[in-house]
Amino acid sequence: MTFDSFGFDQRISAGIKQAGYTTPTPIQTKAMPDVLAGRDVLGLAQTGTGKTAAFALPILQRLLKAEAAPRGPVRVLVLAPTRELALQIHETFVELGRQTGIRNAAVFGGVGLQPQIKALRQATVCVACPGRLLDLLNQGQADLSRVDTLVLDEADRMLDMGFLPDMKKIMAKLPRERQNLLFSATMPQEIRGLSAELLRDPVVVQV
Ligand code: AMP
Repeated sequence: MTFDSFGFDQRISAGIKQAGYTTPTPIQTKAMPDVLAGRDVLGLAQTGTGKTAAFALPILQRLLKAEAAPRGPVRVLVLAPTRELALQIHETFVELGRQTGIRNAAVFGGVGLQPQIKALRQATVCVACPGRLLDLLNQGQADLSRVDTLVLDEADRMLDMGFLPDMKKIMAKLPRERQNLLFSATMPQEIRGLSAELLRDPVVVQV
């Protein structure tokens, strides 16, 4: 299997090349066709498997195909448990999407609000930790009314960290018609419950 077989736009292929990826990893081979097709996906995968690109590449492709405005409003929301993970995901989107012109914002606590508010206003992809994003929403500084793709990454860790109430408040602000991707390293009962609530006829991908 090569990346060529997925039919990515050449601007995305350039990003793949720049990142130095030559062969898709198993989670990428398994998940990318369904994400590209707009399906909801439940992905059981650890960090280190290449799961970030497994959702970032098809999401970028779908944004280009839909001719989404590159400078917002936010169309793709990725929630992640920690600042470190949010930054890693953000950097993956930036690197893989460099030739696409699609703007990205990273939103997490512990740093000043203003630069994030400014970035968010011009972003089509937002990677966020739930607490800070909820702060921005409550302050009227985040518009999620056009989000059509939601990714919950390391969902089990987000639940362990007590983010479920914040996540629910955020999800209540999103349009109901959207693609949902849920990635988790483990499958405790709480994740099964969240999946059943969130995902519509999901494809289950496990590596
Ligand atoms: P992740 O599981 O998303 O945290 O990715 C783990 C690491 O694998 C990151 O440093 C990625 O840049 C790298 N990576 C992802 N996909 C590939 C690939 N197809 N080929 C080589 N490296 C990759």
